[in-house]
Amino acid sequence: MERPPLAIHGGKPVRPSPLPYGRHLIDEDDIQAVVQTLRSDWITTGPKVPEFEEAVASYVGARYGVAFSSGTAALHGAALAAGLGPGDEAITTPLTFCATANCLLYVGARPVFADIAPETMNVDPEQVAKKITPRTKAVLPVDYGGHPAELDAVRSLAEQRGLIVIEDAAHALGAEYKSRRVGGISHLTVFSFHPVKHITTGEGGMVTTNDAQLARRLRLFRNHGIDLEARERQRQVSGQWYYEMTELGYNLRLSDIGCALGLSQLRKLPANLARRREIARRYAGALAKSPGVRLPAERAEAKSAWHLYPIRLEPGRFTAGRKEIFQALRAENIEVNVHYIPVHLHPYYRQRFGYQGGEYPVAEDCYQRLITLPLFPGMTDQDVNDVIQALDKVLTAHLK
Ligand SMILES: *Cc1c(COP(=O)(O)O)cnc(C)c1O
Repeated sequence: MERPPLAIHGGKPVRPSPLPYGRHLIDEDDIQAVVQTLRSDWITTGPKVPEFEEAVASYVGARYGVAFSSGTAALHGAALAAGLGPGDEAITTPLTFCATANCLLYVGARPVFADIAPETMNVDPEQVAKKITPRTKAVLPVDYGGHPAELDAVRSLAEQRGLIVIEDAAHALGAEYKSRRVGGISHLTVFSFHPVKHITTGEGGMVTTNDAQLARRLRLFRNHGIDLEARERQRQVSGQWYYEMTELGYNLRLSDIGCALGLSQLRKLPANLARRREIARRYAGALAKSPGVRLPAERAEAKSAWHLYPIRLEPGRFTAGRKEIFQALRAENIEVNVHYIPVHLHPYYRQRFGYQGGEYPVAEDCYQRLITLPLFPGMTDQDVNDVIQALDKVLTAHLK
């Protein structure tokens, strides 16, 4: 049978306009929520901040939520609250966005990477155990793609060795591990509200915790190191203007404008998660028999939040490499992506820590083969079919 020529060779693309890999979903009620706040007395640090914090904390099953100006700021705040500093090491995965490791550098601590497990591409607890030294103070598992990391194994390692767990759940709002939502499991859990994530505040993030002391420190570092409790205590004595700065903090605050949007977005999270799951199910059904493609796994004890749909091309099955297949899909107007370039391979990490490649063979091998398919709740069934059709077209053309 005559096959249509690939768009990269001058053929007609599968769809006329580009389909992004991720996109926010803003409805009229989201816009109205923001407008209401703009018309109110408070546009930053007013009533919407605690309202949003309580709503997210309650949704994930944590006692406290502390909002930050971005997921990266939330990671920074978590590293500060955990007391990480110069001389400390913390262990994380190389297959993540660089912010997970960068937050450690912000506080003067050293990021140490541990290789991933091939099934979920999450950090392998056995590899973490091998990297623990007397200087290790924290572990930062990432719920890659929305699939919870091996949180029990990480937690028990942390308990044995006195480490704090900072879970990077930027992909995993709404994900479940052993029937519990991520956010109330680790000592500190970090979420991002960047527009490609599950809900958005424009820019924004949050740390959730069950520990009152950690929550207090998160609030302190978010707001210049100003101790609000001391202020309340001392105001009667010292005067109404009084406040105390007790630590070197920052301005990492999220505004009421952002929190108003976040509150409105949060109401739609269950529908958003259901749609993501449905799209993942459609991909799995359509691609199950595609030769040379490994689909993302969902372990029995986990429920992924399906932030990403990362497929892996099996080596030796295609006449072209990942790069050519990626470019051919882009030419079909499917804006596939790659998550992630392993952090230790970035020039900054190579130069500063002497990485040369080859240190984390599983993560590096996955990186060579990964392609992220579009997945976001606003995708129509036609969009999903376009991805499936483009993948079939491009992969069949390159199958050995
Ligand atoms: C998005 C993301 C972050 C950073 O969040 P921002 O809100 O963009 O600062 C951190 N870690 C991971 C794994 C992410 O995907």
